[in-house]
Amino acid sequence: MKVTETIDEMKRLRHQLAEPVGFVPTMGYFHEGHLALVKRARAENSSVVVSIFVNPTQFGPQEDFDSYPRDPERDLAMLKKEKTNIVFTPSVAEMYPAQFNSWVEVGKLTERLDGASRPGHFRGVTTVVAKLFNIVQPTRAYFGQKDAQQLAVIKKMVADLNMNLEIVTIPTVREPDGLAMSSRNTYLNPQERQAATVLYQALSLAQQLWAQGEKNAEPMRQEMTALIQKQPLADIDYVSIADPETLDELDTVKPPALVSLAVKIGKTRLIDNVVLE
Ligand code: AMP
Repeated sequence: MKVTETIDEMKRLRHQLAEPVGFVPTMGYFHEGHLALVKRARAENSSVVVSIFVNPTQFGPQEDFDSYPRDPERDLAMLKKEKTNIVFTPSVAEMYPAQFNSWVEVGKLTERLDGASRPGHFRGVTTVVAKLFNIVQPTRAYFGQKDAQQLAVIKKMVADLNMNLEIVTIPTVREPDGLAMSSRNTYLNPQERQAATVLYQALSLAQQLWAQGEKNAEPMRQEMTALIQKQPLADIDYVSIADPETLDELDTVKPPALVSLAVKIGKTRLIDNVVLE
C-alpha cells in the first residue's frame, strides 16, 4: 500500500495501476460503513484508491471542521488490511492553493434538504469530488446511501458534466439498534447516543406505514414528526418524502421514494434515510 500527499505523485502512481480502478473518497475516521465501500471496491476492481481528506469547503463557518474526528494512523492500518493499493491524503494547501478560484455547482437539487440548512455545503462537496475524480481518474467511485442527497447530487454532476466513470451505491451500515454509522456519532454522550435511535425508529415507522398500505406522504411525515417530537433531546431539521433523483417532495408515495430526515440530538446534527420500494 502506497500513501501519498501530493497530487503529482497520486497521478503518477495512478498510471501504474491495473485497470479497472475503484475509488472511495472519504473524510477518514473509519467505521464499518467506510469499510463496506472499500470492500466492495476491492471485490469489483483490480486496483483500489482511497482518499482521506477533511474538505474545508463543505463545512460552514459555524460547523465542525476543526473538531471533526481524525485518526489517520488507525485509518491507514484498516486500509492496509483491506489490501488498498493507494491512499491519497492531501493537505488543505495541496487541494486549495492560495490562488484557487474555480467551483463546481449543481443547481436545484442542492437547494433543498441539507442544502437548505447548510448553504454552500454541496458546492464544496461537488468541487472536491470533481477534483478527486480528475486526479484519480477512477473507473468506478463508491458512495454510501447514508448520504442520499450527496449521492443524488454527485450522480447529477457526473451526468451533466459527462464525467467518465460509474457511480456505485452501497447500502447504509447500521449499529445493532439501527443507528446509521457515522464519524459524527462520536460526538454523542451516552444519553444522546440512546436518544439518537429515534431517527431509525421514525424511518422504520414510515416503512411500516408503507407496508400497511399508506400511500399519502403527508400523514407519514406527520406520524414520523410526532414520534421524533416525543424525544426531548431531538430537534427536527427536516422530515422528507421525496423522489430520490429529483428530491421533489411527494404527495402520493410512488416507489422508489426516499424517506429522509435530519435531526439534531443535542448539538450533533444527524441524517439518515430509507428507500420505500
Ligand atoms: P465520510 O467520510 O463521512 O465523508 O463518508 C465517506 C463515504 O462513506 C460516503 O460515501 C458516505 O456516504 C459513506 N458512508 C458513511 N457512513 C456510512 C454508512 N453508515 N453506511 C454506508 N456508507 C457510509
